[in-house]
Amino acid sequence: MFVDKVRITVCGGRGGDGAVAFHREKYVASGGPDGGDGGHGGSVILRVNDNMTTLLDFRYKRKYTAQSGVNGQSRKMAGKRGEPLVIQVPRGTVVRDAETSQIIVDMSTGEDFIIAKGGRGGWGNAHYATPTRQVPRFAKAGLKGQERDIILELKLLADVGLVGFPNVGKSTLLSVTSNARPKIANYHFTTLFPNLGVIYVDEGVSFVMADIPGIIEGAAEGAGLGHDFLRHIDRCRLLVHVVDVSGSEGRDPVEDFDAICEELANYSVDLSNRPMIVAANKTDLLDPDSDNLERLRARVAEAGCELYEISAGTTQGTRNLMRVVAEKLRTLPPVTIYEPEYVEVIETPGDPNALEIEHYGSTWLVTGTWLERLVMNINFDDYESRNYFDLQLRKCGLFQRLEEMGINDGDTVDIYDFEFEYQR
Ligand code: GDP
Ligand code: MG
Repeated sequence: MFVDKVRITVCGGRGGDGAVAFHREKYVASGGPDGGDGGHGGSVILRVNDNMTTLLDFRYKRKYTAQSGVNGQSRKMAGKRGEPLVIQVPRGTVVRDAETSQIIVDMSTGEDFIIAKGGRGGWGNAHYATPTRQVPRFAKAGLKGQERDIILELKLLADVGLVGFPNVGKSTLLSVTSNARPKIANYHFTTLFPNLGVIYVDEGVSFVMADIPGIIEGAAEGAGLGHDFLRHIDRCRLLVHVVDVSGSEGRDPVEDFDAICEELANYSVDLSNRPMIVAANKTDLLDPDSDNLERLRARVAEAGCELYEISAGTTQGTRNLMRVVAEKLRTLPPVTIYEPEYVEVIETPGDPNALEIEHYGSTWLVTGTWLERLVMNINFDDYESRNYFDLQLRKCGLFQRLEEMGINDGDTVDIYDFEFEYQR
């Protein structure tokens, strides 16, 4: 079974709660606050594993949650942070947001990607102790980890994609030119999942070629096999269109050629404009009286492509074709790596009354769902981001509400683990 598209849920671990505690020791009358911070929740991380070739592992497990952070304890003991959860994916996995379908990341470069952040641990009361606030009787709860539904979609990384009707000899061509050993048989649809092969042309010159299940007419509309598999040649730099020129199955090579070109066009304009080389295969079976080859040659020339005669069965012309392909690849741009399209949507502030404000002396603790998300997405080291944060707080009417509740200049406003001194 070949699985190349799955939907899963990833969830960062919850942050541990901060502790409220006070130092106790014999002969010490009243100790200071010593509640430790909660540990941060673990994140969910995506990592490329080159030994994986399908998404089969995800078929039966749909939810992936990283470990929670441990709660803080007395004696300023911070809770342990949650372990990250590493999810291994095959190279070439494209990750999309399940709701918007936007690309979040293309796992092709081999770099790890944090797909769901763990929640921050809450501060213990020891953290809130200041010269003017010596007995803080409060601590913060840990934050929830980020949860998101994503779609993993495998799009193979290959320089060259083989296309053509079933049984025209695609798998045979791959097997005689590369290290790959795809299944070959004289019946349709033997190739049920894509095969990749590395072709060594010369010292230091090699490329990757993919054999996908045969495209059949109507595939682009989803009829029968093929449609789903076209995504595997989406990234290919060059297509090698294999045509059975012998007409050994009673089909016409020119009609076949046109039909496949149409399928590609129906799937995407982009794919139909991809550079293409035509391999006229099974020349060993060609009837000397047939005009198949000449007619195909004329049609292919009209379409602006080059044609090479081969016999994958006897390997006649296959080496030469691979040289031509390697030469052509040198002139083409590298394999497509998809740019992320996804932008984190930060909810609009909405009703300032939706914010919860707790008040301990001169300390004001502000919490709220959207605020939590906002804080998670602000990089406080970055000036612009801080400005944006400030603007959002103003817009939502937080300061006005604090005024109404009697905040004084110089009081401390605490928003999750971010604190600042209030100035009118
Ligand atoms: P695919 O469906 O396009 O992958 O086609 P296969 O590679 O599985 O080949 C289908 C059948 O055609 C097999 O029986 C092959 O042995 C045969 N075949 C492939 N190429 C040639 C060729 O050049 N000459 C001859 N005589 N038979 C071939
Ligand atoms: Mg095949």
